[in-house]
Amino acid sequence: MQVTMIYSLKSRLFMFCLLLLSQSVLAFELETVKVTDNVYALIGETGPRTYDNHALNNNVGFIVVDDGVILIDSGASPSGAKLIQQRISTVTDKPVKWVINTGSQDHRWLGNSYFKQQGAEIIALSSTVEEQKKHIETHLERLKNTIRERANDIQPLQATRVLEEVNNRLLLGGKNIQLNFPGDSHFPGDGYVWLAEEQVVFTGDLVYVDRILGIQSYSPVASWLKAFNKMVQLKPGYIIPGHGSVSDLNKVQQQTGDYLKYLISGVSKALEDWLELDETVDLLAESAGQFKQLQNFDSWHKLNINRTYLQLEADL
Ligand SMILES: [Zn+2]
Repeated sequence: MQVTMIYSLKSRLFMFCLLLLSQSVLAFELETVKVTDNVYALIGETGPRTYDNHALNNNVGFIVVDDGVILIDSGASPSGAKLIQQRISTVTDKPVKWVINTGSQDHRWLGNSYFKQQGAEIIALSSTVEEQKKHIETHLERLKNTIRERANDIQPLQATRVLEEVNNRLLLGGKNIQLNFPGDSHFPGDGYVWLAEEQVVFTGDLVYVDRILGIQSYSPVASWLKAFNKMVQLKPGYIIPGHGSVSDLNKVQQQTGDYLKYLISGVSKALEDWLELDETVDLLAESAGQFKQLQNFDSWHKLNINRTYLQLEADL
């Protein structure tokens, strides 16, 4: 009896250790990528928002400066913000003193309150702030369904320093940074952060790689391509996209710029030829070979053609 109990205790301990191990193996973590000296990307999942990934299916990043850290985008909730903070603390003990929101999608700014409580100043373009207000109800509803109780303490706190200019030069902790608006893209009003000295750009949702971009009903596709081309004119050496791995210009051109061009030129030609919506979707669904390897192609490509068609038809 005693022997059985000892074994039973041992096996329970073993099971417990296995459980801990599996949890630590499975627990979601952002991947830290050192881009240049003092500039880091935190790479999220390329799949959908889930409970396990705290809706961090996007990238954020940070810059270590003399007296603190500048964080680019704050995640989709305080729980996600905490994960971001944990990754930063593996690199530096300095506090996050500034948070820049590049966009209005949930995972760009709904972690703001977490960093504000620690004394950070929150900075965004006024066009971004306006757009955040428009989407907040839908974004909160969706987050509650996905990350459940992790959404309970979200406080939609917007920037305390709102920038009115299209192009803005900031000096934060001795570091020169630009926060610029290239034109409406995935979400209208989004901006990008440019570090001229390092030739690094944090694009927010202007750029997607590894997974296909999504044209939403509110994503003006023609304007998105123009905004993308403006960013390209910077000739950045390192691009930290909104989604996907840190890339060079060649890769983002192929997977975002060329895809937008393909949608616009394909749909424009179909409209010239008086093709119906269904015919256009079928035609372009077949000819998208170079983009088929992108994640989410099957679920997004036809929808993207459909929405591009409706937008360009309305512009005729
Ligand atoms: Zn996004």
